[in-house]
Amino acid sequence: MEYYAGKSAFQGIAIGKITELKKKDNQVRRNRITDIDMEKNRFKNAQTEAMEQLSKLYERALKEVGETNAMIFDIHRMMLEDEDYIESILNIIETQQVNAEYAVAATSDNFSQMFASMEDEYMRERAADVKDISERVIKILKGTDTSADILSEPTVIVADDLAPSETVQLDKSKVLAFVTRKGSTNSHTAILARTMNIPAIVNTPIPQNVHGKTIIVNGFDGKVIIEPNENEIKECTILIEKEEQKQKLLRELKGKPTITKSGKSIKLYANIGGVSDIGAVLQNDAEGIGLFRSEFLYLQEQDYPTEEKQFQVYKQVAEMMAGKKVIIRTLDIGADKQIDYFNLDKEENPALGFRAVRICLSRENIFKTQLRALMRAAVYGNISIMIPMIISVWEVKKVKEIIKEIKEELSESKIPFKDVELGIMIETPAAVMIAEELGAEVDFFSIGTNDLTQYTLAIDRQNTKLDMFYDAHHPAVLKMIEMIIQAAHKNGIWAGICGELGADIELTQKFVDMGIDELSVSPAMVLPVRKKIREC
Ligand code: PEP
Ligand code: MG
Repeated sequence: MEYYAGKSAFQGIAIGKITELKKKDNQVRRNRITDIDMEKNRFKNAQTEAMEQLSKLYERALKEVGETNAMIFDIHRMMLEDEDYIESILNIIETQQVNAEYAVAATSDNFSQMFASMEDEYMRERAADVKDISERVIKILKGTDTSADILSEPTVIVADDLAPSETVQLDKSKVLAFVTRKGSTNSHTAILARTMNIPAIVNTPIPQNVHGKTIIVNGFDGKVIIEPNENEIKECTILIEKEEQKQKLLRELKGKPTITKSGKSIKLYANIGGVSDIGAVLQNDAEGIGLFRSEFLYLQEQDYPTEEKQFQVYKQVAEMMAGKKVIIRTLDIGADKQIDYFNLDKEENPALGFRAVRICLSRENIFKTQLRALMRAAVYGNISIMIPMIISVWEVKKVKEIIKEIKEELSESKIPFKDVELGIMIETPAAVMIAEELGAEVDFFSIGTNDLTQYTLAIDRQNTKLDMFYDAHHPAVLKMIEMIIQAAHKNGIWAGICGELGADIELTQKFVDMGIDELSVSPAMVLPVRKKIREC
């Protein structure tokens, strides 16, 4: 047995023989040519054929993995038509009097190096795309284009890395799992694997030449076992059976409404930390995003993210969700989420300290930058803003004042923006007690049960020593949830739960009985919660 750990790109368990995909000989020779026009034409014909292949791949991907994921082939088509790219190839053929294969390979190296050295992560990932389109053209020029490898029986694909075009060309019914030695969890291949619902692990230090060996792939913890022993195989088979039963049930629920037996419809949204989670949101059929923890955007940076940078991220999320609700929570740092460049003082009790809306209302310029970006991005979809850690009515009034100012500034500068719904998180006992007054000021409540439990039970959510005292189902918390829902309804607004308790299916019936309107859970919990609600 050999054990290797990589990074899970998609969950699931598989066992099977390895098909090791190796890069074909893509060596390109530099040959002198005499007929420049003929060589240029050879390139143009190959380019046209590559475009046709990409159109077919797009159509195939559209059917198998949906529009968002098929887009990569559209991007490839656009890249193949890029003037700079084409000009560079034709120029190399002409000035160096060399074969088209060489000109494409040289251009591919130059462009991919350029992309790889860029600061922006998205642009860096385009380096692999330039190589992919160039290899396609070279294969056509060399006449070695064999299209997809035919897999005769279901196997686990092991490769150094997989280009999106290679991934989608594989017969999905014959692929048990993907394991790559390189690759990031955000690569398009990983995204495709997620959408194809195939377990995938990237960045795994598997040695070369493993073709034909047996492998267990555990996409839940990112581990693989090569040549497992009998016990490991038995355990794995049991897990696969259980998983298959679960998946079958859940597949039946995709596209079904989230509605109780008595006909009450509940909004079922997903929680995300960034754009990279949206694949999972769509895959699990969430009806919207109920909590986008925007502070992760700040946590990834070395300095305050600019209005433009934030605008681009919020716009992308709004566009990808295509008109579905996207609730973006404003910055919630402090407590357990510290960021150096905020230069916050060390505090005795950080959870009771300078955090979330308290920072935003004290350092208004940071808050205004975020709100401006949010209101501008709202033009591109269905964005709502949600404020965390509210304890007083004046805080909400102050936030509304700032939003009003921003609207005036944007209007004056003729910058497009859209008015958005404003909600607050109810996650402090103070907010629960004055929920009726707060409800008169906002469009919705979302209950942050993680903090609400911490503050109600006086138990630090980080302190594992207090586990025996911590009761997630404490009657005090449940009573508070009921009070919040009633206060919301008295004000004619909706109330949901976006804390972890929202995904606790032991409580779903209780929440439905209390009159909950929305639940926002991690993407993987969307379908299990839908199943439970439909049984309520
Ligand atoms: C909560 O407190 O329940 C919540 C959803 O917010 P966070 O976990 O980010 O504090
Ligand atoms: Mg919270």
